[in-house]
Amino acid sequence: MTLRWKRALLKISGEVLGGKEGPLDKGAFSFYAGEIGRARAAGAELAVVVGGGNVARGAALAFLPPTAGHTVGMLGTLLNALVLREFLLGQGIPALLMSALPVPGVAEPVDPWRAKEALAAGAVTLFAAGTGDPYVTTDTAAVIRALSVDAQVVLKASKVPGLFDDDPLRNPQAKFLPRLSHAEYLARGLRAMDGAAVAIAGENRLPIVIFQADAEGALLAALQGRRGSLIGGEG
Ligand code: UDP
Repeated sequence: MTLRWKRALLKISGEVLGGKEGPLDKGAFSFYAGEIGRARAAGAELAVVVGGGNVARGAALAFLPPTAGHTVGMLGTLLNALVLREFLLGQGIPALLMSALPVPGVAEPVDPWRAKEALAAGAVTLFAAGTGDPYVTTDTAAVIRALSVDAQVVLKASKVPGLFDDDPLRNPQAKFLPRLSHAEYLARGLRAMDGAAVAIAGENRLPIVIFQADAEGALLAALQGRRGSLIGGEG
């Protein structure tokens, strides 16, 4: 089965990386490294943006000035990226880690040109620390990084099968939405992906797939266009 998109940016939210034992769930990291390896073996070039919700969210740290809270959140994404890199390397998958906040000796600075070279050579490129700026989220970082490495799609790993007209975890009658334009997504006020991120993607005609990621082979199926809901993707 051919890939619908060869170069993709995978967004993994922190919430899928945490577990009952603590914020960093070994099984989840191992699972996603395996998924990335499977997609890579099928010919995909993958960049990854990891979230940090399992460690900290700026908005939840109300006892800190917001800029400090968001910086803590961004550093949480770096923890996730460091762990994911080890799991990728452990599975024999070459991986590069770039951070939007400088941590010399641990991660390289974000460099889209170097990232593109690495992707073309078959390495997975992990982008940590979001955009490096407070007040936005890693969804926005995912769209910006996707555009800067010429990814053809953003694939957002979700706990539910895609987009719905209501929260499917609370309302079993919620209707699945297989396809929407960016403008329709924004007009409906949906929340699976941040509005700011979807707006930037729309301006740049970058499609976004929201897909349930917790089954083996799900990432590859999403890359083949067989899984999830598609935002945009016209033409
Ligand atoms: N964050 C930020 N700037 C960014 C990306 C993230 O300030 O460019 C902070 C923000 O406080 C956010 C936290 O880092 O709440 C964790 O990121 P996010 O909430 O996007 O993680 P996810 O929900 O995907 O796990």
